[in-house]
Amino acid sequence: MSGTDCVLLKHGEIFLKGRNRHLFTERLHDNLRVALRGVGGSTWIKTAQNVTVLGGQVPVATLVERARQVIGFNSVAPAVRVPSTLDAITDASVDALRAVRAERRVRGFAVRVKRRDKGFPLTSSRMEAHLGARVREGVPGLPVDLSAPDITLTVEIDRKETYLSWERHPGLSGLPVGSSGRALVLLSGGYDSPVAAHRAMRRGLSCDFVHFNGAPYTNPSSVYKAYALARELNRCQPPGALHVIALGKAQKQLAVAGAGRLQVVAQRRLMVRTASALAARTGAQALVTGDSLGQVASQTLANLAAVDEAASLPVLRPLIGWVKQEIIDEARTIGTAGISVLPDEDCCTLLAPPRVTTRARLPQVRAVERRLELDELIESLLAGAQVLRPGEEAETPEAEAPMVEAGCQAAG
Ligand code: ATP
Ligand code: MG
Repeated sequence: MSGTDCVLLKHGEIFLKGRNRHLFTERLHDNLRVALRGVGGSTWIKTAQNVTVLGGQVPVATLVERARQVIGFNSVAPAVRVPSTLDAITDASVDALRAVRAERRVRGFAVRVKRRDKGFPLTSSRMEAHLGARVREGVPGLPVDLSAPDITLTVEIDRKETYLSWERHPGLSGLPVGSSGRALVLLSGGYDSPVAAHRAMRRGLSCDFVHFNGAPYTNPSSVYKAYALARELNRCQPPGALHVIALGKAQKQLAVAGAGRLQVVAQRRLMVRTASALAARTGAQALVTGDSLGQVASQTLANLAAVDEAASLPVLRPLIGWVKQEIIDEARTIGTAGISVLPDEDCCTLLAPPRVTTRARLPQVRAVERRLELDELIESLLAGAQVLRPGEEAETPEAEAPMVEAGCQAAG
């Protein structure tokens, strides 16, 4: 087939970014380079208008798979690149549709031309008519169908080069990770917080993670899950760190201090206090949680407000209005569901009272907290934190050993 294989990546929202667009594009390309690590061959990246072109000595299918994990591209299309001359474009169009036809039955085709270089001698519509006619001659038995084609050849003409594509995968869209700053995600082993993290990443936040476990009173199963989840999420960003903090003894102190029905809210407040202090060290400007309003007793408005009051940073809750089934469906799409479903010993159920309050009153929670040396406690929790780097070992494909096959692919 004539032309060189490459991949066309359509930019998402950075389109709208006006004067700062180049900064967003640079960030997007940095993230793409990270996603391409270990592909096993050299690659190149080039920008055309609102499009990134990716190529290299690597199978196109591999490039497509990696690019679909990068947040900020609306679509990912395998393409062929030819010089912007009438002959080269015509030959490549015929070759492309002939190859498709040889692979499968095509009931009707259409050609769509976008002329980004207005200096090209034919207008888009004349070019479409020209290419349509040549393909019909060159690939007998392939009818034109402009109203409902089952294959559309898209021809994008730039000044020097033209790109032909006929297959398009949805990308992860959103803003390039890192373009909105840094956040610290409170990552449990459940369905919700990884989905919340992914949403935060799609709004441009690069994420580190903190997981609290019930050690020394629980086994490490929740830590393994948090690690696997963070590794999965790190496929979509320059890898963030996972901080693991043993909360068991502090939970016991709260229980001894008489937290009673306030135990879960008091624990949650301790988590966000500790996370706020940690965020000051990691440079995070916000915390992210997987709360969804009213999902469980600890997530009533009063309890969420009591938690916010203990945080010294904004607490972002991307899933606040989601219903559980939507969250589970999204977890399947982004590849975290298979990990979240595994059993674990969660620190939240440790010492949880039989009935949790749905309406925490601040004076009562504060009275419990006053019986503890909070500052010292937080200092010691942070001093004992373990810092893990999930995903950084995955420099080569062999080392990746994915727990979940789907990866962070977009739906569709
Ligand atoms: P998830 O499915 O994310 O575990 P959940 O439905 O179990 O959420 P909760 O247990 O009330 O809900 O937790 C609400 C949020 O608090 C979680 O989404 C997460 O952000 C945070 N959180 C809860 N437990 C932990 C933990 N052990 N470590 C870190 N963050 C936690
Ligand atoms: Mg939970």
